[in-house]
Amino acid sequence: MLDIISGKTNIYGIIGHPVTHSLSPLMQNAAIKACQLESVYVPFDVKPENLQDAVNGLRCLGIRGFNVTIPHKTDIIQYLDCLDPSADAAGAVNTVLNSNGHLTGFNTDGNGLLKSLAEDLDFIPENSTVVMIGAGGAARGAVAALCCNGAKKIVIINRTIKKAHELSNIFSKNYPSTVFECCSPDEGVTEFMFSADLLLNCSSVGMKNESFPYLDFTGVSKDLKVYDMIYSPQFTPLLIEAAKNNFRFSNGLGMLAGQGELAFEIWNGFLPPLGLMKKTLASICIA
Ligand code: NAP
Repeated sequence: MLDIISGKTNIYGIIGHPVTHSLSPLMQNAAIKACQLESVYVPFDVKPENLQDAVNGLRCLGIRGFNVTIPHKTDIIQYLDCLDPSADAAGAVNTVLNSNGHLTGFNTDGNGLLKSLAEDLDFIPENSTVVMIGAGGAARGAVAALCCNGAKKIVIINRTIKKAHELSNIFSKNYPSTVFECCSPDEGVTEFMFSADLLLNCSSVGMKNESFPYLDFTGVSKDLKVYDMIYSPQFTPLLIEAAKNNFRFSNGLGMLAGQGELAFEIWNGFLPPLGLMKKTLASICIA
């Protein structure tokens, strides 16, 4: 962000409700500053009942691009002009590009996750078996990215098993080469852990230091990698357990940075300096 806002300043932002906790302004403005762009990135608190008006306002005000967070990621689709395949596959939008009033929705969450899995865990989805926990919005983006990149098998564990089946039904039609299984937490999750390459927590469990009492790592291969999308707290009980078992593990900070880098690229045509967003986040995310 340049020190002086002028008539030529490009405005970017994030819409959500609430949005004050968002770390995106911090990392996006750090990247804007590092690249010496005449731009600024600001948070906009938009209540669900105001979403349509807000989107039209952003369009008409010439806001060049914006991120979308909870609870608008799905509802916004109806107010956009078109969807990039990434958003179509995920059924959710987290990034919008405004090209002279034409709004295109993208989803960078899935590729942000893949970027982090590769950088932080050396994990590539091709031919892999992934056991994932959760079947909400983040899980859907993850399934889309894993299927698109050749995952062999995905096991979805979710408290509400109906949602796990819904997710698997959506994707098994479009990705017949990925095998899906669904499992409720009280149904013998352990057997799936023996053949898993990655355990991926896409649920909110752990944000308040909750653990997964049904997960038993006895006899599980030391090659298992564990990724928790949660980044605050920095070490969830799941990650502490992974450390105790000598598994490679990572929290979701790299995913947050990864989706932000890809959004920045959509808006500006180039990536921000390597590692800058993650470093910016890490400096304030020590829980
Ligand atoms: P969501 O759509 O609300 O889904 C929440 C999921 O967590 C559902 O599967 C839900 O199960 C499960 N869950 C919630 N409370 C539970 C409990 N007490 N016991 C068992 N399961 C529970 O949320 P989301 O958008 O998918 O986000 C999920 C997590 O991912 C959040 O922690 C979010 O911060 C994180 N996330 C991180 C990034 C990143 O960049 N690192 C990006 C996106 C999301 P039911 O279906 O049974 O309700």
